[in-house]
Amino acid sequence: MENTALEIVKELKDKGFESYFAGGTVRDLLLGKAPKDYDIVTSAKPEEIEDILEHTIPIGKKFGVILAVRNGHNFEVATFRSDAAYSDGRRPDAVYFTDPKEDALRRDFTINGMFYDPMTKKVLDFVDGQEDLKNKTLRFIGDSHERIVEDNLRLLRAIRFKNSLDLEYAPGTLDAIKNNKELIQNVSAERIQDELTKILLGKNPGQALREMSGAGILQIILPEAEALKGVKQPELYHKEGDVFEHILMSLDALPEKPSTELAWAVLLHDIGKPQTYSVSDRIRYNGHAEKGSELVGEIGKRLKFSNEMASNLKWLVAHHMMLGDLLKMKKARQAHWIHQPLFNELLELLRADALGTKPKDLSLYNELKKLSEEKELLLPSPEILLTGKEIMEEFGIKEGPEIGEILDKVHHAQMEEHIRTKEEALKFVQEILEKRP
Ligand code: ATP
Ligand code: MG
Repeated sequence: MENTALEIVKELKDKGFESYFAGGTVRDLLLGKAPKDYDIVTSAKPEEIEDILEHTIPIGKKFGVILAVRNGHNFEVATFRSDAAYSDGRRPDAVYFTDPKEDALRRDFTINGMFYDPMTKKVLDFVDGQEDLKNKTLRFIGDSHERIVEDNLRLLRAIRFKNSLDLEYAPGTLDAIKNNKELIQNVSAERIQDELTKILLGKNPGQALREMSGAGILQIILPEAEALKGVKQPELYHKEGDVFEHILMSLDALPEKPSTELAWAVLLHDIGKPQTYSVSDRIRYNGHAEKGSELVGEIGKRLKFSNEMASNLKWLVAHHMMLGDLLKMKKARQAHWIHQPLFNELLELLRADALGTKPKDLSLYNELKKLSEEKELLLPSPEILLTGKEIMEEFGIKEGPEIGEILDKVHHAQMEEHIRTKEEALKFVQEILEKRP
C-alpha cells in the first residue's frame, strides 16, 4: 500500500504540484507503525487530481477530497485546505483551498498535523508535532477550547489518542475537555459509537474510560456505565473494588486484537448489577445478566448499533453467567453450547471478567477452553431434526408462538438425548400436542 501511495504522490509531483502523506499516516510512520490508510495532500485542485490520477471517485469534492482507487486500495487525496467557521460544532460551513501550513493548522492535534514527503523522506512540520511525539504529549493545535468548540467529537478523540498512544495531556488539555463536556451532546450517536469502539479496541481502554468518567462525559453518553461507580461487590470474591473498577480492569485484560463485540460485551457485561443489587447471605445481583441484556438493548438503540451487533451483544451479556454450569452438563448439551456461533467470544468474555477480578482465577476458563477444543473435534453440531414448517404441515398448526415453544421443547429433549431421530422427534411432538389442555 505504501508503494502505491508513493506512486500517487510521484504522479502529482511530476505534474508540478506539491504532494505529501498527511495526518495520521505520518504519525504512524514516525511511530514505526503500519498506517491503517495513506492519506495524501496536494496543491492540485480536485479537477486537476481527477485529470492526473486514474480511477478516482469524487467522494467529497466540495471539501476538496477525491478518492483514488488503485491496486485494491483506496487513497484519499485532498487539496490543501482551510476550514471556514464551524457553526454546528460538526463540520466547517465551507472550505477554501490554501497552502500546507494552513492545512496543518486546521487539524486537531500536533501529532496529527504533520506532512511527509515519501520521495525526499522529509517531514514538513509546522506545529512541532515531532517534538510532541518524542515527548509523548497530546496537544491541540492552537487553543484547546476553540478547537473543541469547532468540532465537538474532539472531546473523545483527545481521550482516545492520549490513551491508545500512551501519551500525556499537554497542560490545559484536560481542563478544556472538562469545561466543554456538555458539547458531547451535539455529536451524533453514530460518531460517538464509532469513537467509543476505537477507544475500546485501542490500548488502555480502562484508563480512557476512567478519564471519560472524570471529565463528566461518561455520565452523558453512557450513564449506565457511570452508574456502576459505588456499586459494592462481595469483598470475598472481588478485592478490586466496586463494579466500575471491575469493569476497568476487565477492559484492560482484553486480548491483543479483540472483536468489536467482545470489547463492548466486556464493557457492558455487568451493566445490570446496579438495578439487581441486593444483600442476603452476601451481596448478590440476582438476574443481572438478563437485566443487563435488556439494558444493552436500550443502549444499542440509543447509540445506533446495527441489529446484528445489538443482538450479539445482548446474547453475550445474557449468557455470561452460564459458563459455570457447562462442565456439569451432559455431553450433547455441552455440544449445543460449544457450537453456538458466539461461544468463543463468550469464553473470551469470561477470561477478561476473571482477569478483571482480584483474586484472579482462570481455572474455569482454562478447563472450558480445553473442553471446547476437544468437543469441537469430537461432536458435530446438533442436527436439526424438525423445522417449524414441518411441524405446521405435519400437525396442521398455524404460524404463531406455539411453534417456537414446540421447537424449544424438541431441542431441549434432543440435548438431553431423549430423542435422536426425526421419527422420535415427530412422536415427541405428537405427545406434547396430546397433553395440551
Ligand atoms: P485513525 O485513522 O486511527 O482514526 P487518524 O489520525 O488517521 O486516526 P482520521 O479520522 O483518519 O484520524 O483523520 C485523518 C487526519 O485528519 C487526522 O490525523 C487529522 O490530521 C485530521 N482530522 C481528522 N478528524 C479531525 C477532526 N475532527 N478535526 C481536525 N482534524 C481532523
Ligand atoms: Mg486514519
